[in-house]
Amino acid sequence: QYYNKIEDMKGKIRVYCRVRPLSGSEKARDCVSVVHSPDEFTMEIRDGQKAEDFQFDAVFMPGTAQELVYEDTGNLIQSAVDGYNVCIFAYGQTGSGKTYTMIGDSGMTSPGLAPRAFEDIFDLVDANSAKFKFEVSCYMIELYCDRLRDLFGSPKQPAELKVKLDKQRMVYVEGSQVRQAATAQELYKLFEEGNRSRMVAKTNMNAESSRSHLVIGIIIRSTSLTDGKVTSGKLSLVDLAGSERAGKTGAEGQQIIEAKSINKSLSALGNVITALSTKAKHVPYRDNILTQLMQDSLGGNAKTLMFVNVSPADYNTEETLNSLRYAKRVK
Ligand code: ADP
Ligand code: MG
Repeated sequence: QYYNKIEDMKGKIRVYCRVRPLSGSEKARDCVSVVHSPDEFTMEIRDGQKAEDFQFDAVFMPGTAQELVYEDTGNLIQSAVDGYNVCIFAYGQTGSGKTYTMIGDSGMTSPGLAPRAFEDIFDLVDANSAKFKFEVSCYMIELYCDRLRDLFGSPKQPAELKVKLDKQRMVYVEGSQVRQAATAQELYKLFEEGNRSRMVAKTNMNAESSRSHLVIGIIIRSTSLTDGKVTSGKLSLVDLAGSERAGKTGAEGQQIIEAKSINKSLSALGNVITALSTKAKHVPYRDNILTQLMQDSLGGNAKTLMFVNVSPADYNTEETLNSLRYAKRVK
């Protein structure tokens, strides 16, 4: 139903808000929901006497099926196949449902946007194969404490990977691997491989994956069989690190470094988005590695969809309000 709204979103950023159900531990703590949705575009947080309203392009209340959320991303996948840079990213505190939305639950019984997009990309490729020759390739990059890690690279990585722009002003990470996929299954296998190496790194560094940003880039290059014209589009799927104000109590060395790095990168992202939405002359992409990495998918001709994921529980009201206020800056 949001299909038409998303139709003409070149250079604009749409924001969808998604609330997950109360979790088992929240229920066990006798948490109550503070989240209300008077209509499909409004999110109201009511805690005690206070109430605050937020407007979004769509609001998904607890229980909204993954399939419906995917359908409401409209023609974004088609756009990437058509040659646009499309970015879908999820923002919110740890445990709010970012990974569930972008990727799926841990057992992948409820697949999220990524696996559904893989299928659709190749359905579109197959449907257009009489007119175009397609090449689909993928990279997977993790950004942890201002360091980039190639999830397709060997465990021993070069000390510093750098974000670069190619002649078409497409982002790439120098020295990282870009892998080809001929089918949706192959793309899914690559994605699983990247995830595995993320898990291994996480265990080795004793770090939580929620403390790093994950960027999956799917490049779709098409060559017209009639005139040989080459077009490249990209779908970037970004599962951001948790936005919670960490390091308040009991945080130690590495946790403080993590928290500082995450705060910096998320506020840099907020600044870029604000600059774009206020049509500022200078967009500060260079300020942070995260915004460098997302540069080709924010602004210009890119189509961007932000999910702000929140918990419904009163226990999390403060973080929920922080996330919704961050998202409000975008509008
Ligand atoms: P995050 O990535 O933001 O840290 P997760 O996506 O891991 O959060 O979600 C935390 C937990 O809540 C997971 O167990 C996940 O399966 C569950 N969850 C998140 N969103 C939903 C939802 N919309 N419906 C059902 N379960 C959800
Ligand atoms: Mg996560």
